[in-house]
Amino acid sequence: MPRVLVVEDEAAIAELVAMNLRHAGFEVVLAEDAEQARRAVADELPDLVLLDWMLPGHSGVQLAQQWRADARTRPLPVIMLTARAGEDDKISGLDAGADDYLTKPFSTKELLARIRAVLRRRAPEALDAAVEINGLRLDPVTHRVTRRLEGSDEPREAKMGPTEFRLLHFLMSHPERVHTRPQLLDRIWGDHVFIEERTVDVHIKRLREALAPLECSTLVETVRGAGYRLTQQPGSASG
Ligand code: CA
Repeated sequence: MPRVLVVEDEAAIAELVAMNLRHAGFEVVLAEDAEQARRAVADELPDLVLLDWMLPGHSGVQLAQQWRADARTRPLPVIMLTARAGEDDKISGLDAGADDYLTKPFSTKELLARIRAVLRRRAPEALDAAVEINGLRLDPVTHRVTRRLEGSDEPREAKMGPTEFRLLHFLMSHPERVHTRPQLLDRIWGDHVFIEERTVDVHIKRLREALAPLECSTLVETVRGAGYRLTQQPGSASG
């Protein structure tokens, strides 16, 4: 279930947006101001932030700029919400690093369409779409990982635990990108502070073992001194 952080100081709007998002299958976290939003993000990265432009104290634009300046929060998908419809405002919102921009009042239908579009682009693992790379297919709905081996008619299924499944889903959703251990802890475990980085190595090893019967464990590469990546060209890079 994708987690959306709604940063909005007007309670009536925040409640309405939260209700509509929950109804559409999202998990919602609410923040009334920049400080609450910062704390919520420090605790656990959401899949997406709906960020009001006008907040008491810090503006939404300043907050978006701060998130973009920090390596941990840089990939966070952000949609700015605003009552202002000026072209200049739109440009400074996008300059601040927002992925999209929505002018109040907006319909629930439009809000959901924008959220899904940004997630598809920035965090596809938050959605339920199946992913396929090099014949390896992961389906979040049926929770199945399969691959058709050469000379076989039936796809073979890999058995793996829930953590390995989430790890594979995340890696397949962002192929070729190198993810550090802290980033993976943040995104897969939802904890970047209290879990040892070695935990990631343990689950990567289990994931490779689970993929071995499907003859594609080399898709998961170790990038020395950096982290892990899922490659679309196994064997082309050094492991
Ligand atoms: Ca406001």
